Amino acid sequence: MKSGNKIVIVGAGSVGISFAYQVLSSSIAQELVIIDIDKDKVEGEILDLNHGIALVDAPMKIYSGNYSDCQDADIVVITAGRGQRNGESRLDLINSNAKIIKNIVTSIKKYNFNGILLVASNPVDILTNIAWKYSGLDKSKVIGSGTSLDTARMRYLISEITNISTKNVHSYILGEHGDSEFPVWSNTQIYGKTLDEFIKDNKEFNHNVFESIFISVKNAAYDVIRLKGATNLAIGLVLVKLCKYILQDENYLVPVSALCEGEYGLNNIHIGVPCILNRNGIRNIVEFNLTNVEYNNLKNSSKNLASIIEKINLD
Ligand code: NAD
Repeated sequence: MKSGNKIVIVGAGSVGISFAYQVLSSSIAQELVIIDIDKDKVEGEILDLNHGIALVDAPMKIYSGNYSDCQDADIVVITAGRGQRNGESRLDLINSNAKIIKNIVTSIKKYNFNGILLVASNPVDILTNIAWKYSGLDKSKVIGSGTSLDTARMRYLISEITNISTKNVHSYILGEHGDSEFPVWSNTQIYGKTLDEFIKDNKEFNHNVFESIFISVKNAAYDVIRLKGATNLAIGLVLVKLCKYILQDENYLVPVSALCEGEYGLNNIHIGVPCILNRNGIRNIVEFNLTNVEYNNLKNSSKNLASIIEKINLD
């Protein structure tokens, strides 16, 4: 019998454990279960995490488990599968990770899991689509981290260059979490001003400055992987925030990978779009008033993903 919020993590690698550490320090769950094919790694991580329990604000149970632990979980977070190697794109991971996700989700389904499935493994939009298909869950309950990390990177970089708090920078990256993602400049706001108004008021900035920020965002994962081998810390925080919006029923707007069925004129595709998250998962997709250029970027990104999904053989 569980007490309080229960999260299961599948995948105890650098992303899964970064997330687990943030769950421990944020007290968003009272029970945390970790599953991985590498049993020694899980046991070691569990020992290490449990040694921190006396130091956090609320009591918590952290233990290694198996798929039967998903039965009464509120959220299962999938961080299993390998990450990009230096120079690889996220789409290069499809052959290694698609079958892993199918097998994991099939195992979870056996235990009638009916909570929220949050996918972080890459290529995240495609793997979220596979997870949804094999989970039997409603589309509102299967969420990919999508472009939420890219959006956090963008807000940070805009804040750095303008010297305005990240809290007063609203700017979204949509589309594939990958090379075809794009910025939505048309609804970017810096201290309440549109980007055009901000540039008019601050002559040292122009549109090229912001375009170069976006290029840095797009290349961020390549840069981090080149320098330290993997990206894991910021994504850990992003996953905790997404869980918090869900568990605390926040109705918070964030771009995640969601199934589009008519929204933005897209159909049958998981892609990064603005969504309101609450205790039920995705309450709804919000349709921004995109410019023609932005809309075409979204359409092209979606076509790109669809052409890859078509070719996947999971048998
Ligand atoms: P990692 O290699 O450190 O860890 C992967 C873990 O998955 C390993 O512990 C491995 O044993 C486990 N695993 C493999 N197959 C499994 C299975 N069938 N069942 C259970 N566990 C299994 O990799 P990482 O750096 O933690 O990255 C994990 C994934 O997250 C990658 O696909 C990476 O690209 C992705 N990622 C996503 C984002 C994002 O923004 N969505 C950011 C960073 C990384």
